[in-house]
Formats: sequence, C-alpha cells, structure tokens
Amino acid sequence: MSGGKTVAIIGAGPVGLAAAAHVLERGMSPIVLEAGPEAGHAIRQWQQVQLFSPWEYNFDKAALRLLAATGWNSPDPKSYPTGGELLDRYLTPLATRTPLREAIRTSSRVTAISRTGFDKAKSKGREQAPFEIRYQNGKGPEVLRADAVIDASGTWFSPNPAGSNGLPAIGEREHAGRIAYGMPDVRGVERARYAGKTVAVLGAGHSAVGTLIDLVQLADEAPGTQAIWLLRGADPAKSFGGGRNDKLAARGELGSAFAALVAAGKIRIEAGFGVTHISSSEGRLRISAGAGCGARSVVADELVVSTGFRPDLAFLSELRLRLDPAIEAPVALAPLIDPNEHSCGTVRPHGARELAHDEPGFYLAGMKSYGRAPTFLMMTGYEQVRSVVAEIAGDSKAAARVELVLPETGVCTRGGVESAGAAGCCGGPAKTEPSACCADDEAAKKAGAKGCGCS
Ligand SMILES: Cc1cc2nc3c(=O)[nH]c(=O)nc-3n(C[C@H](O)[C@H](O)[C@H](O)COP(=O)(O)OP(=O)(O)OC[C@H]3O[C@@H](n4cnc5c(N)ncnc54)[C@H](O)[C@@H]3O)c2cc1C
Repeated sequence: MSGGKTVAIIGAGPVGLAAAAHVLERGMSPIVLEAGPEAGHAIRQWQQVQLFSPWEYNFDKAALRLLAATGWNSPDPKSYPTGGELLDRYLTPLATRTPLREAIRTSSRVTAISRTGFDKAKSKGREQAPFEIRYQNGKGPEVLRADAVIDASGTWFSPNPAGSNGLPAIGEREHAGRIAYGMPDVRGVERARYAGKTVAVLGAGHSAVGTLIDLVQLADEAPGTQAIWLLRGADPAKSFGGGRNDKLAARGELGSAFAALVAAGKIRIEAGFGVTHISSSEGRLRISAGAGCGARSVVADELVVSTGFRPDLAFLSELRLRLDPAIEAPVALAPLIDPNEHSCGTVRPHGARELAHDEPGFYLAGMKSYGRAPTFLMMTGYEQVRSVVAEIAGDSKAAARVELVLPETGVCTRGGVESAGAAGCCGGPAKTEPSACCADDEAAKKAGAKGCGCS
C-alpha cells in the first residue's frame, strides 16, 4: 500500500526518530534532517534535568523493535532518566546502532518547504506534487524531494520572550548577554556564570521550578547565590503541583520540594510581576514590571526566562497550514489542549485525523504540534506518529485506531502546572468528546450537563 514512499522527517528528537522507525517498519524510506550535530540535539541542552515520566513512558514501540534486534538492554522501566540518560540509553543507540543511522542527516537545518512547481496559491494537481525541502548542511543549500513530510522539529530553540505581552520586553534584546532561556545548567556547565550571583527566574512551570530548586542548592555550595522568583500570576501555590495525587510521581515530588523551599524562605517571591522593561543598573540588570509611578523593579545579575516555547513556523510559510490562531496547533487538536480552557494535564490520544492540514501529506508532530500549549508528553507524540505514518502508508484503519492508554494524572493543571486545589476532578483524559477536558467532564457532557466544572 505504501508504494515505497519517501518520507522526510524534520528533527531527530524522540518523536522524529520514532516516526522514522514506523516509516521503516511500513516499508517506506525515511530521511531525517537534523539541524544539530547529533540526534537529540534539543534534549542535550537540558540533559541535566530529570524527566517526570519514567522510562516505560519514554519509549516508542517501533523504536524498541529496532533496538531489540541489536541486543540492546532496556533500562528499568520504572526508573526516571535525566535528559542525558535518555540520550545515552535510548536515543543515541537508536540513531547510531539501528538501520535508522542510514536515514539521518545531521547538521542539516531545514530552511523552507514547498511543493515542486506549486506556490501556495496554486491548487490544481497540488496534492500529486512532491514536497521540496530546502536545507543547509554547511556545504550550501541542498534540496530533498519527498512524498510526505513530518515536521517533528520541536520548540526548544524558539523560547517565549520575557515580555508579558508575548513580545520581547523593552531592552530584552540589548541585554541578551545576561539573559538565558529555558533551563540553564546552573549547578553544572553554567555554574561559574550563576554561583554567588543574584538570579531572577521568570515563569511558573516545571522549568522555572526546577531552575529555582537548583539555585537554592547552588546557594548551599556557593554562598551569596540568591534566587528571586518572578511570576506573572498572583498565586505561587499553583506551581506546587499535585503532590502525591500526581500519577507521574516525579512531577508531584518536584512541586512538593519546591513548596518546602518557598515555605522556608529560601526563594524571594515577586508575584503578579509582568515584565515590561529590562535596563542596566550599575552593571546589573534592572527588571521592571510597568512604567511610571506604579512600576515595580528587581535588580539581579542574571535573568532566566522560563516562560515556555512557541513553534517556529517561518520555514512553513509556503504550505497550507490550518492552525489555531491562539495556540498555533492544528485546528482539530487545539481545543483539546488549549490552556485557557482545559485544566487537565492529559489529552486523549490523537493522530492523523486531528493533525491533518489543507496540505495532504504534511503533518506537524511531537512537541511542535502542541504549538504554544505546554502539556506535551512524549508518549502522546509516539501515538501521533504511529497513526500519521499509517495514514501516509495508506492504512487508514490503523491510522484511526487508538493504541495508547495514557496514565490518569488524577489532578488538573492550569497553564501547564498541576494545581493541588483541583486534585481528583479529572478521572483521566477524555476518550472521545473533543470539547471535554477530562473523563469526568466527558461523562457530565454526555449526561446533558454543561461539564463537570473542573475548568
Ligand atoms: C526540560 C524538559 C523536560 C521534559 N520532560 C518530559 C518528561 O518527563 N516526559 C515527557 O513525556 N515529556 C517531557 N518533556 C516534553 C517533550 O516530551 C520533550 O521536549 C521531547 O524532547 C519532545 O520531543 P520532540 O521530538 O517533539 O522534539 P525535540 O526533542 O525538541 O527534538 C526536535 C529536534 O529537531 C531539531 N530541529 C529544530 N529545528 C530544526 C530545523 N529547522 N531543521 C532540522 N532540525 C531541526 C532539533 O535540533 C531537535 O533535535 C520535557 C521537555 C523539557 C523541555
């Protein structure tokens, strides 16, 4: 059924490699274009971080079948890897010791995608035209033709800026030398930069929480280190997590450990702090919320911005995408994950149908498919690419099937962090009803109610 199609996959992260494994299994040819020098380039940037999901939730089944043939030993499925261990024990062997190694082109950054002979406005015969993928590999521009494209290039390299309006704060670019994004390794490779310094961390999700905990530990080793937590919302408790109610236990533990440090006064908190300006103050950073007489300011040596990520859509501008205008996720997926509406940390499994665009053969998958929503889980991505690859191969029945059972978190989330106050309201992800945020909401809607009230 597949007719020996060539499938271009952008990004050799866990989801891109899983997609390639499924493509191979279905007798098609994957070509993986990876911007970094090795597979897992984005994860390498946060390799010090411990994952909140155990090994058993971080493997793709087709990838495991490829690894099994090499005599690979599985890590303990119940233990929790760091990003570095995820690379060493799983992604690197998958990329270098299985037939996938022939399919991966590293140091190959995709810069544009179109369809051969068709600009965006031209329709007749469009779906028959192969995709044309331009990429840079240091030798100059290269072009690859493919029958289908799966963009699994993640969002790590396009972080949100500090400005609370979604734009860089005034002065943010000018002070880039003292600002880091995401989760810098403050106790490891970046230790010299942060030891003994006053460090402001902006954000309320897991990355901000993890960095603040690391800074408190750094303060024990390097006196003079001080952590300031800047959060846009008014309620710090929302970042304390579901604790023991969270089925992903590591995620619950992180929140509980953080709550204890805050209670002990180890972290200075500035709540309701929407950054608008960044300027210099005697060789340090002045980070301000508002201007004029109502403005508040914090002075720090360094700023870490952990306000989430957004997809890089620039190289997709010649394709006919159907994206939600707010979430920047495929329109059918966005209502399932919209952090404005949904309070649950899980989303029902989904695949080719929800990820389709007005560009047959093109799919966003993995972290990037969630656009600006922060709740992506690897295993959801593995189910996405299993379904998408089945669809590309012409096996619509398998594409429509749901083969993933998500763990019930039993707690709800707001803006990507678990809220202890809402514990127990979900009953796990909704199974079929797209407008339902959780199983209880789905049951309530089926019974004619407006919903369970958890969002
Ligand atoms: C700190 C942190 C902790 C997380 N912990 C968990 C967890 O415990 N459990 C869980 O399920 N999920 C977790 N996630 C979420 C998510 O599962 C991971 O981010 C995961 O790595 C996403 O996989 P991906 O393949 O979609 O994207 P990525 O891993 O980001 O891979 C994308 C790849 O695409 C490449 N790329 C980017 N642009 C281009 C381009 N233009 N051309 C070619 N290549 C390109 C990048 O170099 C990268 O290698 C975590 C995320 C973060 C940031």
